[in-house]
Parts: sequence; C-alpha cells; structure tokens
Amino acid sequence: MEHTKKTKRIAILGGGPSGLFMYKRLTEAKYPDFEITIFERKGYLGSGMPYSPEGANDEHITNVSDNEIPVIFNSIHEWVKMAPQDTLTRFNINTENFNEYKVLPRLFFGEYLSAQFELLRHRADRQGITTHVYLNTPVIDVKDYPENGTVDIITEANGTEIFDYVIMCTGHNWPKKYEGKIPDYFDSPYPPRKLKLKINHPVGIKGSSLTAIDAVRTLARENGSFREADGKYLYDLNADSMGFGIVMHSRNGLLPAVRFHLEDSHLGKDATLSKTEIAEHIALNGGFVSLDFVFERNFKAMFPEKDPAFYGLIKDMNLEEFVEWIMASREQKDPFELFKLEYAEAERSIRRKESIYWKEVLAVLSFAMNYPAKYLSAEDMQRLQKVLMPLISVVIAFVPQSSCRDLMALHDAGLLEMIAVGDDSHVEPVSSGGADYIYTDELGTKQQQHFNTFIDCVGQPHLSFADFPFRSLTDDGTVSPALLDFKSAAMGKAAIASGNELVKQAGDGTFQLQVPGITINDSFEVVNGNGNNNDRIYIMAVPYIGGYNPDYSGIDFCEAASEAVITSLMNSVYAGTQLESDSMA
Ligand SMILES: Cc1cc2nc3c(=O)[nH]c(=O)nc-3n(C[C@H](O)[C@H](O)[C@H](O)COP(=O)(O)OP(=O)(O)OC[C@H]3O[C@@H](n4cnc5c(N)ncnc54)[C@H](O)[C@@H]3O)c2cc1C
Repeated sequence: MEHTKKTKRIAILGGGPSGLFMYKRLTEAKYPDFEITIFERKGYLGSGMPYSPEGANDEHITNVSDNEIPVIFNSIHEWVKMAPQDTLTRFNINTENFNEYKVLPRLFFGEYLSAQFELLRHRADRQGITTHVYLNTPVIDVKDYPENGTVDIITEANGTEIFDYVIMCTGHNWPKKYEGKIPDYFDSPYPPRKLKLKINHPVGIKGSSLTAIDAVRTLARENGSFREADGKYLYDLNADSMGFGIVMHSRNGLLPAVRFHLEDSHLGKDATLSKTEIAEHIALNGGFVSLDFVFERNFKAMFPEKDPAFYGLIKDMNLEEFVEWIMASREQKDPFELFKLEYAEAERSIRRKESIYWKEVLAVLSFAMNYPAKYLSAEDMQRLQKVLMPLISVVIAFVPQSSCRDLMALHDAGLLEMIAVGDDSHVEPVSSGGADYIYTDELGTKQQQHFNTFIDCVGQPHLSFADFPFRSLTDDGTVSPALLDFKSAAMGKAAIASGNELVKQAGDGTFQLQVPGITINDSFEVVNGNGNNNDRIYIMAVPYIGGYNPDYSGIDFCEAASEAVITSLMNSVYAGTQLESDSMA
C-alpha cells in the first residue's frame, strides 16, 4: 500500500479540550505522517476555559461524570490510580471514594485533561510523531495561501510559521462591552475569582442557567456559608453581608432541569438520523432539511418502544404544540417549587437507575440538530431559534445535585429569587455603577429595578462574523458569514419589509438569513463566499460556528467534531492514494 512520504505539518490553535481531542485523533491515525504544533495562549494544556481558573473556582463542578465522558487516553477512574497525590488530596478524591456516576470539581477535571495531554504526548513520542508545544503563545493571525496549499500562523513570539493544515480550537470568548468601564457591571461571570466580592445589597443576574448558577455558587460562599442541620441543608449570611441577596432574571422565569440518571450515558446518539438518511431527505425536500422531519425522527420516533405512554400524549403534536405543552406545564408552577419537585424526581431516577426519558431524548435532539442545522431553510432556523431553543435551554442544561441544594437553601433563606422578564426586557448599564433591569411584569406593569452589582450570565454568546479573531481570513474572503436560504421568496421579502436586518436579497434574487458566525461544511472546513470549502483550514471553536452548529454540547461535541475533522483531513492528505477502508483513524 502506498501513502504519501512527505510529512504534513499540522497546527492546532488552542490546547483546550477541542485541541486535546484533535491531538488524540491525529496521533491515533493509522498513518500519522505528521509533525504537530500546538499553539496555546495560556501556560498549560488541556483544561481550556471551563476547567481552568479562567472558568472555575473550587466550588464549580462539571455536569457530566466519568461514565459520560469519552475515553481520551485512560478513563478518570483509571487516571485516579496514577494521579499526583497532592491533586487527589486537594479535591478529596481517592480510588476508594471515586464514583464514575458522580460529577467532579471542574478544576480537578482540568487536571485530568492536562494529564491526558501529557500521556498522549509521551505515546506520540514513542511512536516517532514529532510534537511542538508553544505555551504562552497566542495566535494573532492566520493567512491562507491557496496557490501554495499552505497556511501561515502568526504569533508575536515566533513570527510566521508555515503549515499544511490548521485546526482552530480557540474555544470560548466573552467579549467585554461594559466591564471595566462601568463599576460593578460584569459582562460575564468569568473568570469567577473576580466575583469573590463581599456584598451588602441585592445582586442582579441576567440568566438562570448553568452560567448563572456558577455565579450564584461563588457569591453565596463569599457572603455566607452552607451547613447541614437536622437533615436539612441551610444557608447563613455573614454578619457583614446582611443586605446580600440574588435576583435572577430569565425570559420565562424558569430554572433549568435537574441532573437525573441517563439510560444511555452517551445519549443514544447512534439512534438518530444518519447522514445518508438526511441526504435522501434533502434530495426529496427541495434541498432543505425540514425541522418537522428532524423533530419526528430524532424525537417522537424514540418513544413508541421506550415510553409508549408518553408517546400517546405527544404523537399528534407538532413541534410548536409540543413546546407549548411542556412550557405551559412548567410555567404554571412557581420555579422553586417545580425545582424541588424535579429534584425529588431526579433523586428517584438516580436511586432506581431509571431515566426521565423525555428529557434524555430532548438532549439527544439538541445534539442531533447540529449536523442538519446548516441545511435548514431560513424559515425553519427561525422556528428553531424561537420555538425549540428556549425549551432546550431549560431542559438540557442539567443542574448537578449539589448546585440544586445550594439554590434551594438560598431560596429557603429568602436570599434568591427569580423574575420572569418576558421577551421585551432590557438591561441599561448605569455609569455610576451596576445596571437597571427594565421589563414588563406578569401583570403587564412596566418595572425598572436598579442593581448596584449586575452580572450578565446568559452563557457563551454566539459571536458574529465581525467578531472572528483572525482578520486576514475575513479580509481576503477565506471565511464567509453563515447564511441560510429562504424556501419562500415571499417570506424573505416580508422579513426585509418588517425591518429584519439579518435578511438580504442575493444577486440571483433569492433571500438569505444571516445566522451567527462563519460558514462551515460537514467536516468543519471553512467555506468562502462562493461556497468553496477550504481543505486546509478547519474550525471547532464553537462561538464562531454557532449559526451552523447551534448546540454547544461540550465534551461530546469535541469528540464528534474531531472525528469529522480527522476523517476529512486523512482523505485530503491521502487523496488519490489507495487506503484500506478502516485506515482513516
Ligand atoms: C463555564 C463552562 C462550564 C462547562 N461545563 C461543562 C461540563 O461540565 N461538561 C461538558 O461536557 N461541557 C461543559 N462545558 C462546555 C465546554 O465548552 C467544552 O467542554 C470545552 O470547553 C470546549 O473546549 P474548547 O477547547 O473548544 O474551548 P476552550 O475550553 O475555551 O479552550 C480553548 C483553548 O484555546 C486557547 N486559545 C484561545 N485563543 C487562542 C489563541 N488566539 N491562540 C492560542 N490559543 C488560544 C485557550 O487558552 C484555551 O486553552 C462548559 C462550558 C463552560 C463555558
């Protein structure tokens, strides 16, 4: 068998979890005829943002456990047997008390990820694969040279280096708009050490999902303490924080769902529509994937066998009816009462090892939306954003039990409340400090509440084309804004008439909706404005591909995306040479 003799130079930009999975894929490829260079802004590899001090303090925990995490070099359970003793002591973890079903401190998980990088590097060395790691080396620009088939990576420290392939794994980014200019206004809760504040007044938080819960956990510990007494979990304020409290705001006034036992710890993703089925559907549906088709096949079709009773309830519902039904049943209850009920239900689910199946399947649907999203019509994308995403955002962000207990104790102490602010609320930063929250309450009365301290906790924003960090690629058109065609010209025209600035008419008369981020294909290759994919440049950084990849699923995304990238990259490297069918990775 023949394969290329020329070693390919591959750059991984960002050594967080995505970079780690990519490195694993490259070093496990059957013909790893590569020289790999990893550029990392920070002084260490593996932990990325959420699992390093950039995204976590000691009180922050993962929402997945060992059994849900794809094995990288070895499982966490295995690694605990060889981990440095001081790391285990710091997080109070040992081989006896380790439980593969339990969530972990995020900083501990970061230590594991860093160790996995090292283990992979040692193995790569033994295999003769050269790896260069540049720490404390942010990439400042990327330039493509199609005529040479190469890409330049530019850093301040090393100047320009030339590569055959580049995989952008630069991950999370929370742009700062007001923070630093307006006192006590925070554009995000990260890094969370900045929230170690002694506060004597109510804090306003925008959002109620896991990002908001991160902020709540830090603030609560700085201004009081949790304790167990008579079988109850209680919170006491510190004497100098007597005015402290937290007011969360969300559109529908709901808290996220509680973590329960998953029947399939990898969320049954194999049971969803295959790429072939999607391609067949597209061919029969005017070049689009229908959102209703995905809802029927990746959601409703999962129930007849596993939960016939639930299927009986939803079998005649369309997407809108289903979402309305679920949301209405949640909105009728006080959010903390519902949270307590769901906590008890989740405890039962964990004890009996029985899933709450519809929530599990909704998480599957959310993940499974990523692949077909780029084939939706603009009309269906608007439905996805408006109808399905609000439900998905409250149901698939599973809150770990210890975070639930914090929230319930704070609420019982009268220090945590939730306000439903509807769709037309806004936040006005106040130059003297904090912000005003302006919204219409459930009785229809306009409200304006000032918070001396305000934290925007809506989670990783989908960033726009203009936010893309490597300017040469935007300036020369190597990357292009993500667009979706309208199926109906009349709908596109009406959207423009109604003032929707994201809708434009293309030169050929068709109407297009601009969605967040840049255009990618199924292999995560960047695509230019003429629709041509670039087989040298890949991107896995979720904030910049949110339009075509709406679900930020975390570690499972890193695994799935890195597989798509390696398959495409190996095809590209060995184009024209005969490879065994199993030889891609
Ligand atoms: C607060 C938080 C908690 C989360 N918790 C979970 C969880 O419990 N379970 C789960 O499955 N998922 C979780 N996620 C999802 C999470 O997004 C992914 O698991 C993961 O962080 C994605 O990894 P990444 O490498 O793409 O991005 P990142 O983690 O952001 O890593 C990117 C890396 O690139 C580096 N970098 C950035 N710019 C440059 C540059 N210009 N040059 C060089 N290097 C650069 C950064 O320093 C960083 O190391 C969480 C996300 C957040 C934000």
